Amino acid sequence: MRKYKPVELPLKDVPQQFAAEHAVCPNCQDRGAGVIGRLGLRLVFRCESCRVRFHRPTASVQLL
Ligand SMILES: [Zn+2]
Repeated sequence: MRKYKPVELPLKDVPQQFAAEHAVCPNCQDRGAGVIGRLGLRLVFRCESCRVRFHRPTASVQLL
């Protein structure tokens, strides 16, 4: 049996100031989505509730 493995884009480390960022999941509106990495200039979040991955431009984070 082979496990289906989803395509994983190579994530880069997140700068310290963004490591504690949280975002609202676009799928279930859960606020517990935490940063799992960085993809180019975008922060990549993952929702703990539904495991959806989504990203957000880093530029908007820097305004906070
Ligand atoms: Zn979710």
